Amino acid sequence: MTYTGRFAPSPTGLLHIGSLLTALASYADAKAHGGRWLVRMEDLDPPREMAGAADDILRTLEAFGFRWDGEVVYQSRRHPLYQAALGRLKEQGLVYPCYCSRKDWQARAHIGIDGPIYDGQCGRPDYRPSESDLRKTPAWRLRAQDEIIGFDDRIVGHYAHNPARDIGDFVLLRADGFWAYQLAVVADDADQGITHIVRGQDLLVSTPRQIGLQRYLGMPTPHYTHLPLLLNKQHQKWSKQTLAPALDLKQREQLLRQVMAYLNLPPAPETDRPSELLDWAVQHWQIDNVPKTGICTE
Ligand code: GLU
Repeated sequence: MTYTGRFAPSPTGLLHIGSLLTALASYADAKAHGGRWLVRMEDLDPPREMAGAADDILRTLEAFGFRWDGEVVYQSRRHPLYQAALGRLKEQGLVYPCYCSRKDWQARAHIGIDGPIYDGQCGRPDYRPSESDLRKTPAWRLRAQDEIIGFDDRIVGHYAHNPARDIGDFVLLRADGFWAYQLAVVADDADQGITHIVRGQDLLVSTPRQIGLQRYLGMPTPHYTHLPLLLNKQHQKWSKQTLAPALDLKQREQLLRQVMAYLNLPPAPETDRPSELLDWAVQHWQIDNVPKTGICTE
């Protein structure tokens, strides 16, 4: 099996120190295994996107010395792939249209491990949508199955939960016509032949949902590695919401050295070429040295 990894940024903001850590770790793990490293732009949610961010992200990656294999894939251009996956789930009776407004269903919901749990109203066998419902475009939800789905993460170890109990029926296609992350990521990882996924621990809770979808769609399950998150003083993940500063290209070397230190890589020799720092990271990459839980940066 040839290793194929990927970095999959969402252009909802510019790259920050946390994204640099994910890019570097996914790149080093792929290249240390003699593998390919793909870049996929997860531009599925135009209302949340920032104009110009997708191009800025690619230019920033290049400035930090990253070279990806093949062409960049844009999720916004792959709707037929997601439609085909939804079609296969429809054939198996695993999805149903949901007419509930977010406000209504969330008012009825209790809280699970990743937010409110949908109560399954539109998926009940005796449920009949009203006339006015039928004039609306529905969302499509997957029936979460009552089963334990687990996997062995290369950093976190074993992780499992029961999607029906802990998550609930989740949306694959939104009522506004946009595809949900969970379906798109599974369809794309399979289509691109991704064998290894290296990403932040904020997505650990999504992985059993994705493994379930892979099984229903007859797709292979990749190896998973969930990286520790970089946290600010308040122990919050660095993100757009917590005002993570965009990467400053004038500080490329310092920033790369900083994330390499977080990943417990040995200090690299003097150089002013970022690609040499990446080569060093590849040569010294040891997944066992990566910290297991959140890293405070301040
Ligand atoms: N696009 C997601 C993000 O930026 C990453 C998705 C993934 O790696 O599966 O958080």
